[in-house]
Amino acid sequence: MKKGVPELLALDRAHVWHPYGPMPGRSDPYLVESARGVRLRLFDGREIVDGMSSWWAAIHGYRHPVLDAALAEQAGRMSHVMFGGLTHQPAIDLASTLVELAPDGLEHVFLCDSGSISVEVAIKMALQAQLARGHPARRRLLTWRGGYHGDTFHPMTVCDPDGGMHSLWTGVLPVQVFAQAPPAEFDPGYAAELEALVERHAGEVAAVIVEPVVQGAGGMRFHHPEYLRVLRRATEANGIFLILDEIATGFGRTGEFFAAEHAGISPDIMCVGKALTGGYLTLAAALCTGEVAAAISAGAGGGLAHGPTFMGNPLACAVANASLGLLADGTWRARVRAIENGLRGGLEPLRDIPGVADVRVLGAIGVVQLDHPVEMAAATAAAVAEGVWLRPFRDLIYTMPPYVADDEDVSRIVAGIAAAVAAG
Ligand code: PMP
Repeated sequence: MKKGVPELLALDRAHVWHPYGPMPGRSDPYLVESARGVRLRLFDGREIVDGMSSWWAAIHGYRHPVLDAALAEQAGRMSHVMFGGLTHQPAIDLASTLVELAPDGLEHVFLCDSGSISVEVAIKMALQAQLARGHPARRRLLTWRGGYHGDTFHPMTVCDPDGGMHSLWTGVLPVQVFAQAPPAEFDPGYAAELEALVERHAGEVAAVIVEPVVQGAGGMRFHHPEYLRVLRRATEANGIFLILDEIATGFGRTGEFFAAEHAGISPDIMCVGKALTGGYLTLAAALCTGEVAAAISAGAGGGLAHGPTFMGNPLACAVANASLGLLADGTWRARVRAIENGLRGGLEPLRDIPGVADVRVLGAIGVVQLDHPVEMAAATAAAVAEGVWLRPFRDLIYTMPPYVADDEDVSRIVAGIAAAVAAG
């Protein structure tokens, strides 16, 4: 039965918990009726350009005919079968393609339900492999401040201690080793400290885990790729694994297919998610080297201690294969560059507005940082009035548009950000 907008929003307020909010929420969410291309259609008929790609995942836009067809075709065969003792072509194709696309050395793919779970699995891989190699004391993690790796418990331990609200969890979460947040430019002093920190904690650390080049939900900060080379050398020299979380950066977002390519390095373990399915379904993966897999497989457990119910979901794998197919011709690169140019040209002038602390752009990521916390409801409403969907957080108004956003869409998004800055 079709319900009216007031009734739907009343039921939403009564029963539906939304991200990072109290119950009921502080303000009503916007009710979406459908989406197509780069546009969300609201229930009142307004169409707004999506500047968020649904939390950075919908890189091809909505209702893409190729992705829709892949999903329908797969639903006609089977939507799901368990992965224990069974396998299927969508998962086999996906794992093989990911290995082909991933940095050298990553050979094995563990399919997971979401980004946070892939980080859990990556951490478990590192801990189990260290244990199997006879280093039971190596069970902490090392990262830098300003990061974000997910909301489940172990990923939370490596999120920025302040932004990740570690104070809420004192005594609950294991305490990890933190370096200062990486500077934007290359600073040899910082690099030396980073290297020394890894060395100093080598006896108790299983892995270093970082987001390469872009720290996303932890603060939308960019850093020099040289730091990744420093971490690669330091981890290798000390028998520690390097985990790269490419959940936000993977599949072209930063201008390279994986952000690790900016540094020309390969990690021991890598997480992907978000844009993996073109934003259609929840799916992520933890990839690892033959060495990591061999250590775990020879260890006491006899295998990796993980296996969720919806592992390798065929619908998600089929749409991921279709999404990777759309990226295969490389045309995303020119689109991302065009978005980068549009965002740079459009956002740079905002630097002079009072209240703006910084403007930065990399690939299809545009960030305006304010010198105060954003008035979220006012900023969002101002962007929507300009015909743009944005979801600011903390002191950040930013966009990660779908790659199919054309120059006009990007101009609109820039106008939406300007309006959000003025209102927020
Ligand atoms: N790692 C990074 C870098 C992320 O950006 C996110 C999600 N914002 C996650 C992990 C967690 O992914 P998910 O929300 O799918 O659990």
